[in-house]
Amino acid sequence: MEPAGTGTGKGAEGTQLAGMGTDTMEPAELGTGTEGTELTGTEGIEPAGMGTEGIEQAGMGTEAMEPAGLEPARLGTAGTETEGTEPAGMGTEGIEPARLEPVRLGIAEMESAGLEPAEMEPAREAEEPPGSPALPAEVPQGGPPGREREQERGRRGAGAQGSAGRAARGRARRAPGRRSGGESARRSGVTVDSSKAKTSLEALKISLRQLRWKEFPFGRRLPCDIYWHGVSFHDSNIFSGQVNKFPGMTETVRKITLSRAMRTMRDLFPLEYNFYPRSWILPEELPLFVAEVRTMKDSNPSWKPTFIVKPDGGCQGDGIYLIKDPSDIRLTGSIQSRPAVVQEYICKPLLVDKLKFDIRLYVLLKSLEPLEIYIAKDGLSRFCTEPYQEPTLKNLHQVFMHLTNYSLNIHSGNFIHSASANTGSKRTFSSILCRLSSRGADVKKLWSDIISLVIKTIIALTPELKVYYQSDIPAGKPGPTCFQILGFDILLMKDLKPVLLEVNANPSMRIEHEQELSPGVFENVPSPVDEKVKVAVIRDTLRLMDPQKKKRKDTQCQSPERAPGAIEEPLDAVPGPEAALPSLCLKQVFPKYARHFSYLRLVDRVAALFIRFLGVKGTTKLGPTGFRTFIRNCKLSNSNFSMAAVDILYIDITRRWNSMGIDHKESGTPGMCLQAFVEAFFCLAQKKYKALPLHKQVLSLIELCECRLAAVHGKRLVWGCGLAQPRGALRASGSAPGPARPHGHQVLRLQKPAQLRALMCRDRTGS
Ligand code: ADP
Repeated sequence: MEPAGTGTGKGAEGTQLAGMGTDTMEPAELGTGTEGTELTGTEGIEPAGMGTEGIEQAGMGTEAMEPAGLEPARLGTAGTETEGTEPAGMGTEGIEPARLEPVRLGIAEMESAGLEPAEMEPAREAEEPPGSPALPAEVPQGGPPGREREQERGRRGAGAQGSAGRAARGRARRAPGRRSGGESARRSGVTVDSSKAKTSLEALKISLRQLRWKEFPFGRRLPCDIYWHGVSFHDSNIFSGQVNKFPGMTETVRKITLSRAMRTMRDLFPLEYNFYPRSWILPEELPLFVAEVRTMKDSNPSWKPTFIVKPDGGCQGDGIYLIKDPSDIRLTGSIQSRPAVVQEYICKPLLVDKLKFDIRLYVLLKSLEPLEIYIAKDGLSRFCTEPYQEPTLKNLHQVFMHLTNYSLNIHSGNFIHSASANTGSKRTFSSILCRLSSRGADVKKLWSDIISLVIKTIIALTPELKVYYQSDIPAGKPGPTCFQILGFDILLMKDLKPVLLEVNANPSMRIEHEQELSPGVFENVPSPVDEKVKVAVIRDTLRLMDPQKKKRKDTQCQSPERAPGAIEEPLDAVPGPEAALPSLCLKQVFPKYARHFSYLRLVDRVAALFIRFLGVKGTTKLGPTGFRTFIRNCKLSNSNFSMAAVDILYIDITRRWNSMGIDHKESGTPGMCLQAFVEAFFCLAQKKYKALPLHKQVLSLIELCECRLAAVHGKRLVWGCGLAQPRGALRASGSAPGPARPHGHQVLRLQKPAQLRALMCRDRTGS
């Protein structure tokens, strides 16, 4: 997790690592692969391409997810880089290179693979001053020429902690020969308020210059099309346009909330949700944690796990420590005041150059309803700075070996800043893929697994987000539409299985890092790797959210007088500056692969029921009356389940959830939060459909509720239309679920009397 709007932040001192265990085996559930896939020596290995076929979704249809611009990895070339040098005594189990022959892609092949030559040509980057955006020749570069950048950097360096934002503003003012904002606006007209952009400002400015959109760095009295917030939805009050944050996202992706959401999904779909380490919430689940570990150890005495304790709301490795036994949890003070998640530690990660690393992938949540997800084709790999060893009592506290946080490792003497994307302590993910590919690893499968992990994770998060959304932007009230770039932190296991570590609501978009020139004197130095990845993500997010493109689309769709047979302009073919930009680095994965994942959206449908009965706009908690109305309208009470029992269920579950001290928008207010409602719903489903597996129980109850609510709704409609039916005809007698609607997740809305009658008929017969 990243701190909101901060820079490199805390040093290693902030991290306590301690432990008392003795052994190093892996939890059975997270068993790693058998084949060693550790990447070791780089000598003699030629740069490798990825082939031209793109990355196809295994089992996801035939369309390809194209790999990022995979740069030919020059391995072990930079004399100053140490990661090419193997520490003695390690690296015996490298992947046997299946094809070590260099695979060099020609321009035509790159294009056929959907790779941008601009992204793949290191030479082009080398020609430009470090840190300048890799612009296509046609687009006038907004930034100052190289020399001015250098001078400016010097000026900023003297200012020690001079903020990237100030520097960027200064640069924007001083840059000669650039179009004024007004001229740009005449070309595009899209207006962006960047006054709250914080540390993403520099990357945002470069993106806006490339797009020739108009920036308002100090805000604007008139509404803007897009508001770019550095921290949260609530950074300023907005009533129109688009904002780059969803309300409630920060709360939804906190370690504890994420763990709960993943557990709910794992309870429903254990196989689909095995990519998140088994986790327990402290302090409330400490007894459960102790009991489960004891049971697992009893059943498998050779299991010698390691666990990682992470404070909720922590970031940059702050407060994290490793333990070998539940009794090592530090209960004194901090756990009570600062809840935490304790998680199985992945002991056998994939190593590159003997080092542990993780992947930061950027994911755009373009829309919540309908769900639209995009994944950036390239991301970052952040490396540890000490060779990895499986956790032992002796090394358990070594942060530079076990934690991949950039903010920690930058304080290590071994940290390597590199201008190259495939060397140093921070590299592009594509350079890792390239390297894996050159050793015969199935990177197509890896991408497919990553896409699946991302979609499933977002599916787990959307129910809570929808509750926040309707609370902050109630239907019918003026408000902005939202989108958000999320940072997914992923660890690869030895067998290349991706494991989700966490989701960041505010991934760092800094494209500079601080360098200490002399004690206490810092300079902001551009980071080409960050710039390459992050500017593309921001720029292409903006392109996807372009309000004018949307207007053009709407006009095209509505235009009635298009001559038959006339050649239509493709909706995505945009004239102007965009035509000169590289192809989008963001690839849509949802709804593209929706049919493979929609069956997982059960909690989403439960959340739709919850929201329907919330009643008072602006709230996120369901009162007892709302819960009773839900039970009544769905006809869930009967002689075995009286309304008194309904009240008891409500009180029991609500009281427990409210006592957990969850950091929730309305923590202090009484009422049932979504997660408590989900628990109650599961209880009801289990009661009603005893013999089925949990997900079928829940699905059956959802369909029953949706069906009965549709009937109630329809009854109102019919009465409204003067098509009143005899009362008896509306009474549902059976409790069996309606037919399965695997892709639907919204409450049925019936408009036609015929549809309505058919449904009532079905409901009556319980078919
Ligand atoms: P923070 O928000 O403080 O960065 P993270 O959950 O990202 O917390 O954990 C910090 C680092 O600890 C990760 O970058 C990763 O290197 C390591 N880590 C976290 N969870 C695990 C795990 N379950 N197994 C192995 N390493 C982990």
